[in-house]
Amino acid sequence: LTPVAALDVTALDVTVLGCHGTYAGVGGACTGYLVRGGGCAVLLDCGPGTLANLQRHIDPRLLDAVVITHCHPDHWVELPVLRNVLKWVLRREHLLPVFTTAETWAMAEVVSKDAMLDTYLPTIVKDGSDEQIGAQRWRFSRTDHPVETLAVRVDAGGRSFVFTSDTGPAWHLDALADGTGIDLALVESTFVEATFPTDGVQHLTARAAAEMATAANVRQLVLTHLMPGEDRAAHLAEARGSFSGPLSVAGIDERYDV
Ligand SMILES: [Zn+2]
Ligand SMILES: [Zn+2]
Repeated sequence: LTPVAALDVTALDVTVLGCHGTYAGVGGACTGYLVRGGGCAVLLDCGPGTLANLQRHIDPRLLDAVVITHCHPDHWVELPVLRNVLKWVLRREHLLPVFTTAETWAMAEVVSKDAMLDTYLPTIVKDGSDEQIGAQRWRFSRTDHPVETLAVRVDAGGRSFVFTSDTGPAWHLDALADGTGIDLALVESTFVEATFPTDGVQHLTARAAAEMATAANVRQLVLTHLMPGEDRAAHLAEARGSFSGPLSVAGIDERYDV
């Protein structure tokens, strides 16, 4: 475990806790990332399987906040589980700030039978929200997805990180590029062109992710949210045709310095 207090307050890094879309494949986990920088640690999304992996990187009592991007179950359903751990097992003493959409919070309240406020201090965020978590600045942008879904931009120590959450091509990274580009972008790449469903889901292909990253002046691109069974090499190859910088596919426990 890395004690948060020992972290360089100027550094910003992102650790993958889970990165499968829709459901976790064998040995996998759905969306979750640990964002550390500016002297604090934030859990970004809390999908199925992420809590187990989180514990390899930080004592959950040391989290400074949780941010949940939308109410699809692959992004949030372990939030009430984390609540139970913090309240009944680890006995965290202070409320943990949670930033999420109104409908995600409402669903979590139902699942926990209205016990969320015992442990969490909620802030409802929406398109255009701009929040400070310690020395991390978080900005939110509504994506192209069937439910209210918020892409996030985090700035700390002069570095910038964007996570698209889930989106179709009608939203663009430009919304969070801030005029100067993005140091690290985790962009959803649920399918490649050959596997993209014909019924019009609101997700991206590897090619669309790469084209968007190039247009928004992204320095380092990580493809994520692959559907289980997708071929990682095919995602890399398709994206490489449209993005020339450092490029990889997210994997559990990988850490990216921003
Ligand atoms: Zn998803
Ligand atoms: Zn979704």
